[in-house]
Amino acid sequence: MQKLYCDTCQRFLADRLVEGSCPFPDCNYDSARGDQCDKCQKLLNPTELKDPRCKVCKTTPRIRDTDHLFLELPLLKDKLEEYINEMSVAGSWSQNAIQATNAWLREGLRQRCITRDLKWGVPVPHEKYKDKVFYVWFDAPIGYISITACYTSEWEKWWKNPKNVELYQFMGKDNVPFHTVMFPSTLLGTGESWTLMKTISVTEYLNYEGGLELYDCSGTIEK
Ligand SMILES: [Zn+2]
Ligand SMILES: [Zn+2]
Repeated sequence: MQKLYCDTCQRFLADRLVEGSCPFPDCNYDSARGDQCDKCQKLLNPTELKDPRCKVCKTTPRIRDTDHLFLELPLLKDKLEEYINEMSVAGSWSQNAIQATNAWLREGLRQRCITRDLKWGVPVPHEKYKDKVFYVWFDAPIGYISITACYTSEWEKWWKNPKNVELYQFMGKDNVPFHTVMFPSTLLGTGESWTLMKTISVTEYLNYEGGLELYDCSGTIEK
């Protein structure tokens, strides 16, 4: 694939180290990050940004070829939609979780890159990719499982026991697609019987622009 490379810093730029304008015309936010636009919530690839710039040195990076691994989300479409349709009802997903998930599905499932040209991170256990690490939102949810496995050799009683275990997760709304689309896809793609998230509880942002706004748990705004 093609990634942004900064000649001044002499490295491929991590998604968060690239800034530019959001490529979606109805948004056009001028400080979108390489991985996500904080204004319209859409997930991005850094090369999609308009007028990209290196966040460290502010120069314009150039596109360079590099090999990466991808999740084939389009192949999992049927299984994933079945999971989402069933669990969002059974687990009473909050409205903002359903909205963020549907927004993602409406745009169509795309292949998602799960490796990065970085030194810091979990190394890819494959000779050809040994200089790369996994993308944090690929390996972080796997941490839910591996942390349990570090604690007990009986981890499968929780994580491979979907008939008897109900998984609840809590997060801010910017993390929703990683838990309703990406991570379920990772698990469904193995073809094995994993415990998938049943209920997701999602908070809105704490917004500091134009004065401090605090959201209490009933959704009331206090200024
Ligand atoms: Zn945007
Ligand atoms: Zn730079």
